Amino acid sequence: MKNLKLTGHKADGRKTIVEVGGLRIGEDLVVIAGPCAVESEDQLVRTAVAVKEAGATMLRGGAFKPRTSPYAFQGLGLKGLKILDKARRETGLPIVTEVIDTRDVSWVGEYADILQIGARNMQNFSLLREAGKSGRPILLKRGMYSTLEEWLNCAEYILAEGNPNVILCERGIRSFETYTRNTLDLSIVPAAKAMSHLPVFVDPSHGTGVLGLIEPMSLAAVAAGADGLEIEVHIDPSQAMSDKDQQLSPDAFKRLMRKILIMRKTVQELAKDVEP
Ligand code: PEP
Ligand code: MN
Repeated sequence: MKNLKLTGHKADGRKTIVEVGGLRIGEDLVVIAGPCAVESEDQLVRTAVAVKEAGATMLRGGAFKPRTSPYAFQGLGLKGLKILDKARRETGLPIVTEVIDTRDVSWVGEYADILQIGARNMQNFSLLREAGKSGRPILLKRGMYSTLEEWLNCAEYILAEGNPNVILCERGIRSFETYTRNTLDLSIVPAAKAMSHLPVFVDPSHGTGVLGLIEPMSLAAVAAGADGLEIEVHIDPSQAMSDKDQQLSPDAFKRLMRKILIMRKTVQELAKDVEP
């Protein structure tokens, strides 16, 4: 791939480590968990306490939701960000939240520890440039119709503005298959890591949209070498205002977390085994 001047491997072969709230992303396995959207203080804070207790290391929650329909719940905006801040103070978990508008990047960045750029905005080049100037780490989701080369070039836009802290996140691509919401492309994990020094995450929630597939795909993502996961968890999934069918209950997430940690340990053991 041409012109991946900053995103392609460094001359010294070193991987990027993104430091956020004491975490070393790219080194420690990081699990970002939380609801699709921030709906109320009660919903978010209770979910945050539950995911922290289960072992999540970061909290997610959208205050600005990029919805297919303009009539669907669009998120609480500033009120949602203030609720995220409260949950961070109560749990100590750093916050990942999406920004969808170039005009909002700098002030949303004041609330977020990591700014998320969603799949629908992956190639919004003005948003990428603003994200590059924000000084905040960026979680860049793969567009649902985007190739690895296009995705890495989008990361390049952010790095080219002087922001080295980019995390890639696979979240499924469109295919002919309708059983799953998207087709989770786990082969992109080792492929992206072979091309770039940036950490690579996987979102099995949007990647499958099917509750029963989140656990096997989370474990498979870790086995494939993912540096972290982003998983939707809601205190009461049946009442969720968006993505109701793919949000785990806190109990299901707790069971999953245990298995994720076992898988991570196994992967580390395997890596030791093949070292010469
Ligand atoms: C999200 O993570 O809230 C989201 C909207 O995901 P994606 O951009 O991958 O659809
Ligand atoms: Mn969602």
